[in-house]
This record gives sequence, structure tokens and C-alpha cells, in this order.
Amino acid sequence: MTTIPVMKPWLGEEEAAAAAEAVRSGWVAQGPRVARFEQAFAAHAGTGHGVATSSCTTALQLGLLLLGIGPGDDVVVPSLSFIATANVVRHVGATPVFADVDPQTANLTAKTVEAVVTPATRAVIAVHQAGMPADTDELRTLCTGRGLAVLEDAACAAGSTYRDAPVGAAAELAAWSFHPRKLLTTGEGGMLTLTDPDLADRARRLREHGMNISAATRHTTRQPVLESYLETGWNMRMTDIQAAIGLIQLAKLDTMVTRRRELAAGYRQRLADLPGLYAVTDPPHGQTNYQSFWIRLPDDFPMSRNELLAFLAERGISARRGIMATHLEPAYRGHPHGDLTVTEALTAQTLILPLFHTMTEAEQDHVAAALREAAQGGATR
Ligand SMILES: *Cc1c(COP(=O)(O)O)cnc(C)c1O
Repeated sequence: MTTIPVMKPWLGEEEAAAAAEAVRSGWVAQGPRVARFEQAFAAHAGTGHGVATSSCTTALQLGLLLLGIGPGDDVVVPSLSFIATANVVRHVGATPVFADVDPQTANLTAKTVEAVVTPATRAVIAVHQAGMPADTDELRTLCTGRGLAVLEDAACAAGSTYRDAPVGAAAELAAWSFHPRKLLTTGEGGMLTLTDPDLADRARRLREHGMNISAATRHTTRQPVLESYLETGWNMRMTDIQAAIGLIQLAKLDTMVTRRRELAAGYRQRLADLPGLYAVTDPPHGQTNYQSFWIRLPDDFPMSRNELLAFLAERGISARRGIMATHLEPAYRGHPHGDLTVTEALTAQTLILPLFHTMTEAEQDHVAAALREAAQGGATR
């Protein structure tokens, strides 16, 4: 029996040819393809500038550095997120403060953020969880009133929309991931998008060891250029091989989103009559790209979430636990936090169903039938 994977990148010969072309050109580190990918991605996201990075984690870290956040500062984050959202706050020496989330969107709200803001709070990392657009207007209104910066963690959200514009279009700072678990992939990779050109210049410098002139520029100039290092930077660069793949993937992004939304509708239809089951859906303020299609089991479901994962695995279905809760991980043991009731319920009762570009109707039928069998007590087999 072949297993239905939870996610599979949609890669083909075009990506392979683009990567090969970059290799044959002899220019494999950050260069002209990265510059083209940055421009194309920022244009697609409806924002001014893109700064490609090695991952979304480094893009988030770069965002916090640009905001000047460090020791003594608090940054509000959802606990219900991939752990990198909180880790980057620690990476710059600041303290993550966990806020609870909305049960339907799994995102922060102005209310949950307001409940945990302290005098030391400097910023909020607003995650568009699993592609679900966060209500950033509402969050921004709260934050602007209190002098807090907003950094958007759009790791999963390429192709999602918020109030008829791409997610991140209005963001001062938004960070994106190109890991294969997201839609658009470059293997590993990330991007920081920004509206302010001066901040973008500084981001480029911090990404490349604090150099005042990029290596790419130095190597394309005939005259010798003596670079200098204006501040302590990092190596957060993307390679030209990755960017070559990214350019092809970006051209396919809208098709990917359309297909994922069709498949999500297919699941919603197939699961509509399962009593008490909640399936993630668009919020009133936008459209999700369904980076992850998650469902929440009712309290009286006949088996636990983990039993259900095992039940599905036995039937050749690779589902996953829902979004993790960072405060429950050993790395955050003892880290103080307030009320996270919704976070704890969501992380315990949700699971992510397989959804990938080339998924077939028959595969969806198989997943839906297995869930139905489980909902009936799983005794029919
Ligand atoms: C995947 C993910 C990240 C990390 O992305 P990388 O590119 O793997 O560093 C950060 N935040 C969220 C919400 C994610 O889903």
C-alpha cells in the first residue's frame, strides 16, 4: 500500500533545468538570480522590497534586529506556532511572551494580545498560521496606539489574501519561508519583505556580514572595489541555485493556491456531515492558501487525536498532529505564561490532513472514508 503524504512539493523538470542552468553558469552563491527573485516575490506580495535569506527563521531574526529589539525587551508571540516564531525572540536576547489565539483562525487577535502586553513589550509577531490571514488591521490599530511594532510571520502564507490584497502587502516587515512544507519551495530559503527602502538596505547589509557593498556587485565590477564592514552582520544568504528554483515556483504559485483551495473545498464537502467536526475555512477578512488543512475533533469523538493519527496511518494516510504549542515543549519548560486555554485545546484536538497539488479525488475519498469510519467508532474493520 502506498502512503498518501501530508504534503508534497510541486516540483518538475522546469525547476531542475533552472537549477542546472545556475550551476552551469558558474554563479552559485547569492547573485543575479537572487536579485531577480527578490524583485519578483516582492511584486507578487504587493510590497516594495524583498531581501532573500537562508530561511524564514533568519528572516524573522533579521526583522527583529531591524526593529532594534534585544535584551530587556518583550515580544508577544502565539505559543500555537512552529517553534521558530518564539525562538527568534530568544536569538536576539529578548523574551517571548505567549498570547492565546482565536479558536477558528488559530491566530492572535487584538484581545489576546492586549491581555499580555507589559511595559517591556516592544513588538508583536503576528503569524498567519497555516496560511490563514491574521486580522492585521485590528492588530496594527492596537499596536500603533501603544507604540509597538508588528512583524508578520508569513512563513506559510504566500498566496493568501487579506482584504483583497496579498497578505503582507501592508506590512512594514513580513517574513516568508520556502521550506518544502510550505507552498512555494526552494529547498530551504526565506525572504523578508519591507516597505521602507532604507530598512531594506540595512537588511541586505546585515544579511551579508555587515558589508557596505554586496559580493555580487563587487564581482561584477571591473575596477577593484574595497568593501568595508559597517556593523556586525550575519551570513543569512540564499544561493542563486535556490533563487533559480524560486523564480519557477513563484510563477506557479497562483495555480498552486487555486488547486489547494479546490481540494480544501472537496474535503469540506466530504466531511460536512460528520457531527461536531470543525474544518478550517476562510475568515471574513480574507482567503487562506490552505498551507495546512486542519480539522478539530469534537470532545465526544470516539478516539483520541493520537489514536486517530495511528488509525489513519494504518490505512496508508499520513496525517499530522495540529499546530504545535511552543510552551509545552521542553525548550520552554518553566517559561512563564498566562492563560492559553484555546492554544492547549487546539494543539490537542486538531490534526492536519494530506493536501498536495497532485492529490486525486480517489485519495480524498479514501481519507474522508477513513475519518468517517473512525467517527463511527472505527469498529467496522
Ligand atoms: C515553517 C515556519 C517557520 C520557519 O520557517 P523556516 O523557513 O523553516 O525557517 C516559521 N514560522 C512559521 C509559522 C512556520 O510555519
